[in-house]
Amino acid sequence: MTNRIRKPYIAGNWKMNLDRAHSLDLIKTIKGRLGDGGDREVAVFVPAIYLADVTAVAQGSPLGVGGQNLWFEGVGAFTGEVSPRMLREVGADRVLIGHSERRHIFRELDEWMGRKVRAALDCDLLPIYCIGETLDERKGNKTERTLKKQLESGFEKVRPEDSHRLTVAYEPVWAIGTGETATAEQVAQAHRTIRKWLVQRVGEEAANQVRILYGGSVKPDNAKELMAIDCVDGLLVGGASLQAETFLPIIEYNLR
Ligand code: PEP
Repeated sequence: MTNRIRKPYIAGNWKMNLDRAHSLDLIKTIKGRLGDGGDREVAVFVPAIYLADVTAVAQGSPLGVGGQNLWFEGVGAFTGEVSPRMLREVGADRVLIGHSERRHIFRELDEWMGRKVRAALDCDLLPIYCIGETLDERKGNKTERTLKKQLESGFEKVRPEDSHRLTVAYEPVWAIGTGETATAEQVAQAHRTIRKWLVQRVGEEAANQVRILYGGSVKPDNAKELMAIDCVDGLLVGGASLQAETFLPIIEYNLR
């Protein structure tokens, strides 16, 4: 057992999966099982088009519901984008920023990340800021450099007093959706790098409030092991968050 100073955080990223009916079924099942939430925080990140419906069902439970992306401007000519206020209006209380699919498929720039994180915080949305190296970067011994560069950009406009509202997700790109999970040593090393960087950036007290999640092919049979790694405060789950049979055992990683 790790001696936790931060509340465990289990988050599901539905990406562009599930139709409306399946989304509502799944959220009802999770809500029913979660009760008062107990000692862990649970959230799902939902396609923007279903946020209003899903938050309506989740209401009255401790379940968090978030968007998968935002644009940092308040209003304007940004076709296809969603503003922080729009997310709030449909009930979202949090948001993913910098997910690797946004960075790599949609070519989101490092330079945008600080403004996105700031815009989320200014609109009372809890950001999960996602970072992680590609396979080439890992093979080229550039993992640490990549993580620090992504942290520099995402935390550009962060103040120490924002820390308790911030979460970082370490998601090695080569482990996302591939079935290949990072080893315990790789996860521990990356999380130590992130924690150390945070201490230098915002000071020890504030850094200790930031949760660091692991994401990348998390499944019911590796969740407990991953949560036992020092410095892992939670999990960001893609594929396995799409069905109650696989997501609930991850939420209840230590109860089985
Ligand atoms: C993710 O999308 O953030 C993710 C970690 O996906 P998967 O669990 O499917 O690897």
